[in-house]
Amino acid sequence: DELISQIAAGEVVERPASAVRELVDNALDAGARQVTVRLLAGGVRLISVEDDGVGIPPEELPVALRRHATSKISNLHDLESVNTMGFRGEALAAISSVSETALLSRTQDQASAFLLDARSGELRPAARSRGTTVEVKELFFSTPARRKFLKTDATELAHCVEAVRRHALARPDVGFAIWHEGKLVEQWRSTLETADTADENRQREALDRRLSDVMGADFLEDSVAVAFKLGNVTVTGRAGLPDAARSRADQQFCYVNGRFVRDKVLTHAARSAYEDVLHGQKQPVYALFVEIDPLRVDVNVHPTKIEVRFRDSREVHQAVRHAVENALAVPRA
Ligand code: ADP
Ligand code: MG
Repeated sequence: DELISQIAAGEVVERPASAVRELVDNALDAGARQVTVRLLAGGVRLISVEDDGVGIPPEELPVALRRHATSKISNLHDLESVNTMGFRGEALAAISSVSETALLSRTQDQASAFLLDARSGELRPAARSRGTTVEVKELFFSTPARRKFLKTDATELAHCVEAVRRHALARPDVGFAIWHEGKLVEQWRSTLETADTADENRQREALDRRLSDVMGADFLEDSVAVAFKLGNVTVTGRAGLPDAARSRADQQFCYVNGRFVRDKVLTHAARSAYEDVLHGQKQPVYALFVEIDPLRVDVNVHPTKIEVRFRDSREVHQAVRHAVENALAVPRA
């Protein structure tokens, strides 16, 4: 049983960055406005993710660690129209089976926080304000074979930062901070007040500010706004101008309903839009946000949810291609 859960864990947690991504997903699902990630040794010795979300009541702390015990899905219809980042109830179970995990949490109506040590099962009162801190120590300590595949601390740290960066681009309304070995590595302050979240102009401004914070101020100058709707698909974001000097291979960000994805349909569509205007072998830089009816996309394809399957991929391809072509003012054949 221990073995099976460790094998399953391998699919969800490949390296510290995968744990970081899952824990930040959970913080966002809990309505956090500020997420702080603290790491030691590239996340191998410690990953701590602290949020100011709704918290977990003490009686649910042990449940949160159990496999397939999710609070987010109660029936099959939910599974098809899922709008939280997590929904499989696997992440915490997987992470805690390959590390020393502790949950510290407090809900609004509790007099104190509670700390659960996953290994011993001990639950005791502790101190903190509303929200949750998940502490993951000594990742892969019991699976040395997997630990051997980890790269240097610097490389693992870079992957962890990238995982948070992907969240940060999608959520300008949330503040993020990343600490490594006691030093602040990145900090992106919230650029949107909750009161403004319904205002489309404010949203666009907030996203632009976050894009410039995360991708560099020159990206805003060297890019154009994308805003396009085709049938069921809405595409927004920014597309880098083809002659922008800062063209880099790791600066293509695609989101589907707020979730960062790696998807051939989307990258191919963007690539096609750039084809006629992109000279040489340069990679276009872009951040594209695709909104689509959840019933028309399956996010339950891969344990890490980084891959999706569209019900009508031609429609999505067309929408993204035209969106980027329009933004770049590419004459359409
Ligand atoms: P999933 O996110 O797929 O539901 P997880 O294993 O990631 O599964 O988390 C299990 C459960 O633990 C969640 O459904 C949620 O109820 C609770 N949980 C985990 N992290 C947090 C958090 N930061 N704040 C509040 N609740 C949390
Ligand atoms: Mg989750």
